[in-house]
Amino acid sequence: MPVETVQIDTLVVGAGQAGVAMSEHLSRQGVPHLVLERNRIAEAWRTARWDSLVANGPAWHDRFPGLEFEGLAPDAFAAKDQVADYFEAYASKFNAPIRTGVEVKSVQRNSARPGFTVETSEGRIEALHVVVATGPFQRPVIPPIATQMAGVTQIHSAEYRNPQQLSEGAVLVVGAGSSGVQIADELQRAGKQVYLSVGAHDRPPRAYRKRDFCWWLGVLGEWDAEAVQPGKEHVTIAVSGARGGHTVDFRRLAHDGITLVGLTQSFDAGVVRFESNLAENIARGDENYLALLDAADAYIARNGLDLPLEPQARELLPDPHCLTQPILELDLVAAGVSTVIWATGYSVDYSWLQVDALDANGKPRHQRGVSSEPGVYFVGLPWLSRRGSAFIWGVWHDARHIADHIAKQRTYLAYRDAGERQCERDSQPSKNNSLMGVR
Ligand SMILES: Cc1cc2nc3c(=O)[nH]c(=O)nc-3n(C[C@H](O)[C@H](O)[C@H](O)COP(=O)(O)OP(=O)(O)OC[C@H]3O[C@@H](n4cnc5c(N)ncnc54)[C@H](O)[C@@H]3O)c2cc1C
Repeated sequence: MPVETVQIDTLVVGAGQAGVAMSEHLSRQGVPHLVLERNRIAEAWRTARWDSLVANGPAWHDRFPGLEFEGLAPDAFAAKDQVADYFEAYASKFNAPIRTGVEVKSVQRNSARPGFTVETSEGRIEALHVVVATGPFQRPVIPPIATQMAGVTQIHSAEYRNPQQLSEGAVLVVGAGSSGVQIADELQRAGKQVYLSVGAHDRPPRAYRKRDFCWWLGVLGEWDAEAVQPGKEHVTIAVSGARGGHTVDFRRLAHDGITLVGLTQSFDAGVVRFESNLAENIARGDENYLALLDAADAYIARNGLDLPLEPQARELLPDPHCLTQPILELDLVAAGVSTVIWATGYSVDYSWLQVDALDANGKPRHQRGVSSEPGVYFVGLPWLSRRGSAFIWGVWHDARHIADHIAKQRTYLAYRDAGERQCERDSQPSKNNSLMGVR
């Protein structure tokens, strides 16, 4: 359907979970708005993830407050398509004004009148507010150390779908956050020889003393942390909901057959070099794991909860050989490695957003999503307001704050003093008269 030139109060760009949450809160506030999505609702969950992906948090947690997952036990982990279906159902629940298949090409501030001109694949839109909900994970990032190597296929985790997709041979997975670790585990279980390059990470227990880590991060206030702890800027989180959910345990992965290696340092003539920090990275991950158990025990004691002790959670497996005698370099061809999977994260693309809301590095300049360009907002970004901001649970709360901000601005703008109110009354035909006229 052509969009043509439309005037709207608020335009939301993107209909992933962030755009859907935004639309719900704008609707509640009575703000006229339109959501444009270039693909389908929650497309990233449908087609930009590997086949077996399930949510990292249980269904009771990884959802919006207003709707439960249909036909899924609260403690189960929703498959990626169930997550996409969920957001479609959520959007139809309140008739979200979403137009799919429409791409926003540019946003520019108007010079002689209020608001923004938005060029889309189907026409022009005039909007007073623009909310950028295009997601934190748009462009797969492969670090510049990667070089082409004959006989070795290199893909980003965003392109990985399943083990059958890969050619015969061993695999090097670079990056051991939730994506890298889950992909490495799946490949090893499918019979592949796997090398996993492990950097700095946190690895909370999947569950402890009958409560999931999502619950623990909630009651301990960690989802609400407002800033990354100093020194933790490059620390990923390794969690998994796969196979009913389990704690990510690098020693267990090594005992199952995965060869752990340190942070990937360089590629040179088919030889990959790894930093000698594997043991340190594993030790730091263990410290983080044990610290959460300590904090959980203290919380239980403080609140007098009757949750069973779980001393076995503190028993760590013996150090595997690859940890005590780490490989520092690997000749890929000699080791039979035919594929390298870069699970090294994503960046954003705001080339279409031609307003003063980005810093010199192209990163959004904002406070809790309210940008430096009046009228432009961001939602869904990591640490937008807190640790939970880029996750399903957290984005809903940030969206409420932004909708409140827009509604407040509209209220200020609608203010008229006594003289202006009188003028407006005088210029309008009397209600009684017009009613009498109709009757
Ligand atoms: C592998 C992986 C697993 C994850 N697992 C979990 C999990 O288990 N639990 C959890 O809470 N979070 C998880 N996340 C994090 C987060 O929930 C997802 O990344 C989620 O998709 C982010 O939602 P979003 O709406 O912010 O962005 P997206 O889902 O990326 O949605 C943005 C939308 O904007 C559209 N768009 C972009 N540009 C334009 C444009 N110019 N015009 C129109 N439309 C545009 C895109 O098509 C897209 O549909 C995971 C992330 C990844 C990468």
